[in-house]
Amino acid sequence: MDKRGKLVVISGFSGAGKGTVSKALVERYGYSLSVSATTRSPREGEEDGREYFFKTESDFLKLIDYNGFIEYARYVDHYYGTPRKYVEDELAAGHVVLLEIEVQGAMKIKDQYPDAILLFITAPSIELLKDRLVGRGTESMEIVEKRMSRAAQEAEDIDVYEYIVVNEEGKLAECIETVHAIIESETCRVSAREDFIRSLREGLAEYR
Ligand code: 5GP
Repeated sequence: MDKRGKLVVISGFSGAGKGTVSKALVERYGYSLSVSATTRSPREGEEDGREYFFKTESDFLKLIDYNGFIEYARYVDHYYGTPRKYVEDELAAGHVVLLEIEVQGAMKIKDQYPDAILLFITAPSIELLKDRLVGRGTESMEIVEKRMSRAAQEAEDIDVYEYIVVNEEGKLAECIETVHAIIESETCRVSAREDFIRSLREGLAEYR
């Protein structure tokens, strides 16, 4: 891969399974996964620094002032943001960096990094989405309703994405492979391999 890596934004309605897909991509293919900061409370089993950096609102606002995020957004009563340093370091090292973020953040990323790949993961139907969200049991019904209403808003913005991948029931492995194939093909674009192509040309210079 060329010196600059690739940013891949993975969004999807709450409960679509994007977290599971991202984690599997990291484990199987060694992609880097950015850990966001948030002001929401940890869910059972979540650890500070692993799922999120859990912050107080005042600490989060300070980080905004220090230009510590490449993007941040408010989502259902809380702030979420992508820490700048990790992403910039990983890109400079030439890695593929996954950002699991919502739609407003995705748009901000596309403005700053026009080469970023924007990918939307969804459940096959809205009934199934709600079943998954309720079945997960991590949120109260009030929050489930807020997240469904947020999904309705997000659906209006799906056009900003380049790819939509359906996470079919019982076919998680297929979904993971589809996302991987999309990333692979994007990193094979001629426009993404300018340094490599230059080195090929340099190697052939004496034969001109
Ligand atoms: P959850 O509370 O379910 O972990 O996340 C809620 C939403 O916030 C999800 O859509 C998730 O992708 C999004 N999110 C997580 N981290 C970030 C971030 O750093 N920036 C933005 N814009 N959204 C985020």
